[in-house]
Amino acid sequence: MRNTCVTIHISNFLHNLGEIRRIVGPRVKISAALKANAYGHGALVMARAAEKGGADFLGVASPAEGAELRGGGIRLPILLYGLALPEEAKIVTENDISASVADEEGLAVFEQAAAACGKKARLHLKIDTGMGRIGCTPQDAPGLARRIAFSSHLVLEGVFTHFPSSDESSPVFTENQIGVFSAAVDAIRKNGADPEIVHASNSGGILQYPAARFSMVRPGIILYGYYPSQDVPRPFTAKPVMELKAPVLFVKKIAAGTTVSYGRGWTAPRETCIATLGAGYADGYPRLLSNKGRVLINGTCYPVVGRVTMDQTMVDLGPQSHVRRGDQAVLFGPDPSGPDAWEIADIAGTIPYEITCGIPLRVRRSIREADFCAE
Ligand SMILES: *Cc1c(COP(=O)(O)O)cnc(C)c1O
Repeated sequence: MRNTCVTIHISNFLHNLGEIRRIVGPRVKISAALKANAYGHGALVMARAAEKGGADFLGVASPAEGAELRGGGIRLPILLYGLALPEEAKIVTENDISASVADEEGLAVFEQAAAACGKKARLHLKIDTGMGRIGCTPQDAPGLARRIAFSSHLVLEGVFTHFPSSDESSPVFTENQIGVFSAAVDAIRKNGADPEIVHASNSGGILQYPAARFSMVRPGIILYGYYPSQDVPRPFTAKPVMELKAPVLFVKKIAAGTTVSYGRGWTAPRETCIATLGAGYADGYPRLLSNKGRVLINGTCYPVVGRVTMDQTMVDLGPQSHVRRGDQAVLFGPDPSGPDAWEIADIAGTIPYEITCGIPLRVRRSIREADFCAE
């Protein structure tokens, strides 16, 4: 088995969740985003951690992700943030997963599925106030909400919206969305429907817009230890949950003028020691870090030299080094003396979401908490 692995620091996740709880208070529900295998961290493990840490809901992207959690014994309410296809409505309802709907057609599908399995389908009406992805118009919301609330097969469990720029410094667009959404919720109530849960805020919304907490918030990236952007307030220290490590496979001394890796993109300026690490872009370490990244080995950072290859990456240890074969290199993680996923993302021109989601399954996950050793 390869020694390249991600360590999942459950205690950091519980810290981040606890801080979100402290900020929103005891009465606002928290729906922890567990989609995309919990941003690459492992859905079932993170679901158990979220349960332990007092989350009220779990957010998934697809019926399959929700069914996986139910199959793993997770009892917390689960909300499908995305839309189900008509043929998936039955699995969703049977698994007691709450679904998002955005139009008459979508709710009719759930009405039929609920009737067929003898259960009520719990629906959240999604209102598009500016994301431009899924959702009904604010004008259509009162009619759709009423239709759900008065159907004998459906429950209007929630209404919600989503923010495309809550992590940016200008508040104009998001504040307008909050106004439009609040007015839509008022109109829904005036029209005789009473949604149990009203929600809007992602991580950026939680950090910047206290007025948008309503009765539930939907944190994602912040739970995994990263701020959604460099522009949001930082009311607490978010602790990264994922740590990517690779073993030193080989150490060699090379002469000045020797080149390293494909394309010979790096030439040793002096005699130096090079370590070859057992991780490359096929382990989720972006090739864009060639000649730009740095790794942490035994408390010291060393630069990546030459191109990152599929399975291996080289770093310059300098002329004198105590680094040995078998030592562990941290490619990113919570240790403040080394790189984190934001540093990697900045170099690669992306966001930490894509870095943690991009760790492939061949990289072993190991869980850092005794009570989670079941995985
Ligand atoms: C992913 C997602 C979130 C969480 O977003 P973060 O930016 O990671 O906090 C919240 N709401 C919806 C609908 C989502 O899809």
